[in-house]
Amino acid sequence: MKTVLITGGAGFIGSHLCEFLLEKGFKVICMDNLITGNEDNIKHLNKNFKFINHDISKEIKVKEDIDYILHFASPASPVDYQKIPIQTLKAGSLGTHNTLGLALKKKAIYVLASTSEVYGDPLINPQPESYWGNVNPIGVRGCYDEAKRFAEALTVAYHRIHKLDTKIIRIFNTYGPRMRKYDGRVVPNFINQALENKPLTIYGKGKQTRSFCYVSDLVDGIYKLMLSDINEPVNMGNPEEHTVLEFAEIIKKLTKTKSKIEFNELPEDDPHVRCPDISKAKKELGWEPKVSLKDGINKTIEWFKEN
Ligand code: UDP
Repeated sequence: MKTVLITGGAGFIGSHLCEFLLEKGFKVICMDNLITGNEDNIKHLNKNFKFINHDISKEIKVKEDIDYILHFASPASPVDYQKIPIQTLKAGSLGTHNTLGLALKKKAIYVLASTSEVYGDPLINPQPESYWGNVNPIGVRGCYDEAKRFAEALTVAYHRIHKLDTKIIRIFNTYGPRMRKYDGRVVPNFINQALENKPLTIYGKGKQTRSFCYVSDLVDGIYKLMLSDINEPVNMGNPEEHTVLEFAEIIKKLTKTKSKIEFNELPEDDPHVRCPDISKAKKELGWEPKVSLKDGINKTIEWFKEN
């Protein structure tokens, strides 16, 4: 039985990963300081599962042998990371250093959860992995973007210098059950506003684009990458691109809400476009998303209704 340590395992993506890997027969150690994660997300997991409440920016000690480390701990919603920029920078820098050190000690395979935010406000669309990005280091998003860029650089350095088997996944907008109702991101905002017949708050004119990947598709891709021999970054996301205005209309239709649309100020440095070029994941991992936006959003609406 292989053991996997998942940092951020009580978070949105982390908890889905814990569940998935337990089903695949792994022993799972979930590490989280619950700063944005929630114990409710993992309370149903017990067999072959251990939870450690720990801040990964501090030294990590684990007794068990570990075969894989999946470093997913970080605030990820713009609202969250702008509230706690120092913790965000520490999770990406010190947290990455500590987990890489642990991987070296345990001879574990290492997977870094990176982000489409490494591309900043991209000047090319869609974004291939070869694009270097357009990031404002001192802007309000800099704490997350630069932490993740540093995390990638450190991960690659451990691969080059220490020959550690490392993987980097650049995650594009992902959604699904267990997102926090008030995490501030567009999917929980629009769905909950619609369910409460409150206005849908579009930032700017809603002409900016995003593409939304359902969480089960992402987890499937992470698993394929973790078992692969790829060491270079791989984009994962859904390449179906929508403007935020189109997305609001889709939510209105699927929830059958009476909500109106309200236009608010566009936040600083909000990327104008974002869409993953997933040719690499397709070619090298045989991965592409399978869940349609309609099906994924319907499942998410049901989950928010029940919770
Ligand atoms: N957005 C919006 N209304 C909201 C929340 C977000 O129009 O209530 C927009 C936001 O300005 C951005 C896009 O939706 O252009 C996606 O925002 P989110 O916070 O989900 O994540 P991001 O992709 O910016 O990291």
